[in-house]
Parts: sequence; structure tokens; C-alpha cells
Amino acid sequence: MAVRFIATLVLCLAWAGSALAQSSILVRTPTELQRAIRDAGAGDTIRLADGVWHDIQILFTGEGTPAQPITLTAETPGAVILSGQSNLRMAGAHLIVSNLVFKDGYSPTGEVVSFRQNSERRARDSRVTGLVIDGYSKPDRLEVDNWVAIYGRGNRVDHSHLANKTNAGTTLVVVRDPVQGLENDARIDHNYFGPRPVLGANGGETLRIGTSSDSRSNSRSVIEFNWFDRCDGEVEIISNKSGGNIYRGNVFFESRGTLTLRHGHGNLVEDNVFLGNGLDHTGGIRVINRDQTVRNNYLEGLDGEDFFSALSVLYGVPDGPINRYDPVANAVIANNTIIEAESVFLGAGADDERSAAPTDSRFVANLIVNATDSDLLHLGPDITGITISGNIQSPALAPGTPGGFEARTIGMSRNAHGLLVPEGLDGVGARRDLRPVSREETGVSWYSKDDRAATLDSGRVVQVQPGEGTLAAAVAAAGAGDRLNLAAGHYSVDRVLVLNRPLTVSGPSGGEARITFDRPTLFEIGRGAHLKLTHLTISGRDAPDSVGNAVIRTRAGAANYILIIEDSRVEDLTVNRDFDVFRAEKGTMADLLSLERVSVRSVSGMVIGADSETDDHGTYNAERVSVTDSTFRDISGPVVDLYRGGTDESTTGPNLVIADSTFERVGRAGSRPFSINLHGVQTASIVGNRFIDSGGVRFHRTVGTPTLTMAGNETVGTPELDTNLATVEAGL
Ligand code: CA
Repeated sequence: MAVRFIATLVLCLAWAGSALAQSSILVRTPTELQRAIRDAGAGDTIRLADGVWHDIQILFTGEGTPAQPITLTAETPGAVILSGQSNLRMAGAHLIVSNLVFKDGYSPTGEVVSFRQNSERRARDSRVTGLVIDGYSKPDRLEVDNWVAIYGRGNRVDHSHLANKTNAGTTLVVVRDPVQGLENDARIDHNYFGPRPVLGANGGETLRIGTSSDSRSNSRSVIEFNWFDRCDGEVEIISNKSGGNIYRGNVFFESRGTLTLRHGHGNLVEDNVFLGNGLDHTGGIRVINRDQTVRNNYLEGLDGEDFFSALSVLYGVPDGPINRYDPVANAVIANNTIIEAESVFLGAGADDERSAAPTDSRFVANLIVNATDSDLLHLGPDITGITISGNIQSPALAPGTPGGFEARTIGMSRNAHGLLVPEGLDGVGARRDLRPVSREETGVSWYSKDDRAATLDSGRVVQVQPGEGTLAAAVAAAGAGDRLNLAAGHYSVDRVLVLNRPLTVSGPSGGEARITFDRPTLFEIGRGAHLKLTHLTISGRDAPDSVGNAVIRTRAGAANYILIIEDSRVEDLTVNRDFDVFRAEKGTMADLLSLERVSVRSVSGMVIGADSETDDHGTYNAERVSVTDSTFRDISGPVVDLYRGGTDESTTGPNLVIADSTFERVGRAGSRPFSINLHGVQTASIVGNRFIDSGGVRFHRTVGTPTLTMAGNETVGTPELDTNLATVEAGL
């Protein structure tokens, strides 16, 4: 009996001891982690050992209490890396995840961090803090995932660093449903949303709260004191799709898009700071639906127009379906300061479908300061439903400004927080003590917010001598940002040069570096690559006798890359038909394709083929295309074929400049007999060119209000412009 008692006592002590020890346990293997999660109780902390955890899919479940949550964290903040095919799901209550880093890989599923295990089991009253997700993007840029998905109720994501998402899908999304409660009270604060490059398609939202189907109910989420740093994905930096949310004290820095109140009623947008620094498509706040309040925001240097305006109030669809634009009613837009903006648009987006003007709304006590260009106010067909009063514009009003604006010269000075405040003016514009959250106050202190992506010409300079295989060997050995300096002579290449890093290949400024290649392609631009070619001569004479060769093409995953060709010659691409200089493959997108002082002759295909996105979903292959001071002779297809199909309104491109170039016997063959073929392009400037015995220019509008400028072009034996545009700008 006594022995049994003592044995029991020992067991009890051992249990108590292990319970104490378990309150903070360090785990070193996936098996240890799994066991620790299984055994964890309220108040316990599980720490992942420092190091790289490769291909680890964590399911963190448990029931903590408000006073005693269960915590999953790192041994050392910043020293636990989840890489490869990793992700994390949480389910239960009062769980905390902190200080984990996802990088060097991508989630195998539709989410990196999810506040649910499956459609039945969610997390509630839980928190993710100090999370870093950096560049953890799916390689196929049009494959959708959400990096952080908040399900459940009462959950919070704070002080996290989410940067460099290049594939489609939100960076952070709040998913609501009636089972968990539509009033889900998410809190999203002090996060650093780092650079998100242009997606070139819908689906590039940094933040989305809700979906259209449940949007006429309240989420009651609070989004405050976050930094949005160059979040350029698409027109909606934030896509609000629910009601009763608060957006407060956030900073939007050089972000090309707007905080869009896309669906849902009764949201509050206050104390936010938008800083565009004059970059194109930087925007502010877009108002749609009922009962929205936009007050005390500071908007400076925003260059966006139309849906990218500093402020826009939209027309709506009368009695429209839930996924369309509800009319604006009872909006209050008050005490905002708008400085050096390109556009404020009251009554934007009116068309056959969006025919309902704003009603019962007020635009009051706003301060607009534009030193030089006073003509920023744009008005829709009917704005009588907006009461405009007590606004001041400095120094002058544009002709046609409606009543409710007073012209007055206001002195402005920059305060300690870097914001311009008016001198001697009370009650108009944002409050004087508005303090933007600093970048340092967001994200985490132990992970740098500085850009680390390599750029062109940021690496070493390497000398290369002519010969067989010397160029291929140099490319294979090149590091990110390296520049290969080719001496004069002949370089023959017997393989496709696949690039995954920025690379410059430069010939001598005197003499000729001549490249020939005997594969269907010379350069292939992959994920992470940029390519600059300068002072080279490239001949296609040794390429194989097959259809569809290209000197340069993209491979899957190439996104936001730059291709520059300058001071170079490309010739003899005639061995078979459809031999292109450059071909963008489907699913890839360039930030910039640039030809400057380039001479191209004898080509059986196109020069720039960026026409692969034919699904008509608003996707396209190049954001900007620029051709200047160049000469094109005997090209079968167009010099530029640029395509964006469909009526999606999420994006800003493509944009094109062609200037001071000569087209001779270009674009006369095949199904598209044009020297320049532009379909769905948003801005095009074709200025100072000569077209001789060539196909004409085609410009076809698909969506938006594109602009085409044609000036100073000379044509001989070339058809007139073929366009469905009503007006073409004739001057710059
Ligand atoms: Ca969108």
C-alpha cells in the first residue's frame, strides 16, 4: 500500500514537474513540434529551434484562455526560417503565433498562414504577431493564393512584415461567413505591407475585407496604423467589401492604387496619410455605397486620375446586383487636406450601367492646395446630390468650379511630422496634430525594410573574350547584377542562356561584338531576371530552320522584369517564319520593355510580341513599352504587338511610347498587317516617326478612357490610323 502511495506520489510529482517544464518547450524536429502541440495546454509556449525548417506544414491547434493563451514562437526572433513548401494553419481559441519568417519558397496550398484548419475548425480570439512573409510567391504569377487569411472572430494580425508578393491573390484577406458570425471584429494594426509590384491583372489587392456576396452586412474590422509601402498590385490597394469597418491612421506611401470602398456600407476612413511623391497612378480614396465617412485624411502628391484620383465619388448601378457598384448615398467627405493632386473626381465612372448619381452627400471643409495647376476638380454629369460647402482651394479656383469652394492663398509649412499644415486657417482641412505612424513603428525591428532585390549593373564587371562558348560560360558564372563587357569579335552560342538574375551584356563602343546562336532562342528571361543589351550586333543567321524562333523570350514565372536593348543591331531573323526579336510568353509580365537607338532589319516575325494574354481577363504582358530613336526595315509583322483584352478595370497598363523612329516595309504580312498593333492599351504616344511603305497603326479601345497621341508622324505609302477611339490627341 505504502509502496503504491509513494509510486503515485512520484508520478504526481513527475507530472507536476513535466507540466511546469512544458510551460515553455523548445522543439527541434517536426515530430517534437507535433507532440508539443498535441500536449500543449493553456499558458504553454512552444518555441521552434533556430534554423531553417524546410517543407514544414504546421497545424497549430489548442484551447487557451484570455489570461493563458497558447503560444507558438521562435527560439530567437528572425532566426527561425520556414522555407520550401511550408505553411501554417491555426484552429482553436486564444492562440498566439509570433516571430516566424517565411521566405525562399511558397505555400503548397492556397494560404501561407490561415486562421483555420478547414471549413469547420477555425481560430478565434487569436493573434499573429511578428510574422514575416517575404517574397514567398508562387512561381506562376497568375496562380492565386492569400498570404494571410483571417477566418473566425476576434482575431488580430499586428506588427507583421508582408512584402514582395508577385503572384495573384491578396496579401491579407478577412474571410467572413454566417457560421462564424459576419460581425467578425478582425483587427489589423501596425503591419508593414512592403512593396508589391504591379500584377497587371485583377487580384493584386494588398488587403481585402470580405467578399461581395456578404458585403451588405457589418464586419466591424479595424485596420489602423499600418504602412503600405509601394503597394502597386492593382487599383485596389485595399478592397473593402463589407460594412462597419474603420480605416484609421494608416500611411500609404508611393502606392499606385486607392483605398477602395468597393462594397459594404457605413465605413469610416479617417486620419490616414497618403504620400504619392508625384508618381503616376498614386491615388487616395474611392467612395462607393451608402453611409461612408471620409474625414481628416491627408493626401499629398497623388498623380492618379479617374479611379486612381486622390478622392473619387462614384456613380452607381441602380438596384444592381450585389457584385456591382451600389450608388453612393449619405456620404460625408469632410476636413481632408489634399495637396498637389492631379484629380478629385465627384461623380466618376458614369456610364450606361453606372447611371445613378450620388445622393444626400456632403463635401465640406476640405482644403485643396495646388500651387500651379488649379484644374484638378472633375465633375460627373449630375452632382446635385452632393452638398458642397466651406471648402477652400489655394491659391485659385479653376474656371467652372461649383459653389462651395472659396479661392484663398494659404501659406503652408511643414510640421515636425513632415506634413504640410496651413497657417492661420481654422476648421478647414485635416487636423493640425495629425501624426502619421512611422515606418519603424510598423512590422518588426529585427527584419530589414530596405529593398534587397538586385538591380541591373549592381554587381561586378566581367571582361569576356570572343569565341565559341565564351559568352555562355560567362553568363553561367555571372552573379546578380553583373555586367559582361564583351571585347570586339564573334561570339557563338550553342545553348539557350537562361537568366534568373539581372544581367547586362555590353559590347565595345568602338568595334563590333557580334553574337550568333544555333538554338531557337538566345536569351530566356526567367523569374528574378532583368536583361540589358547594349552595343551588340545579334544575328539570327545560325538559328535552326524552325517556326517561331525568338532572340529573347520569357519563361514561366518571369514577372516585373525589365528588358532594355540600346545602341544595338539585330538582323537576319529569316531562317523560317515567325522569327521574333522578343516574345513574351503567356503568364509573364514586364515592367518595362525598352528599345533605344536600335536598328532591326530582315525579320520574319515581330520585334516586340506582347500579345499572349488572349483570355480577355484584363491581363497583359507589359506595363510599359518604349521605342525611341530606332530603325526597323523589312519586318514581316508589327514592331509592337501589345494586347490587353476584356473589360476589367483593375489595372493601369499597358502604356506605350514610340518616338523618333523609322519604319520601312514593316507589318505588311499575315493576319495583322500593322506596323504597330495596340489592343486595350491605356496610353499611347506615337510621335515624330516616319512610316514608309508599311502597315498602319491600329489602336483598339477595350475599356477605360485610353488616350492616344499621334503627332509629327510622316507617312509614305502607309494606311491611315485604324481606331475605334472618338478622339485622338494631336499634340503633347
Ligand atoms: Ca481588385
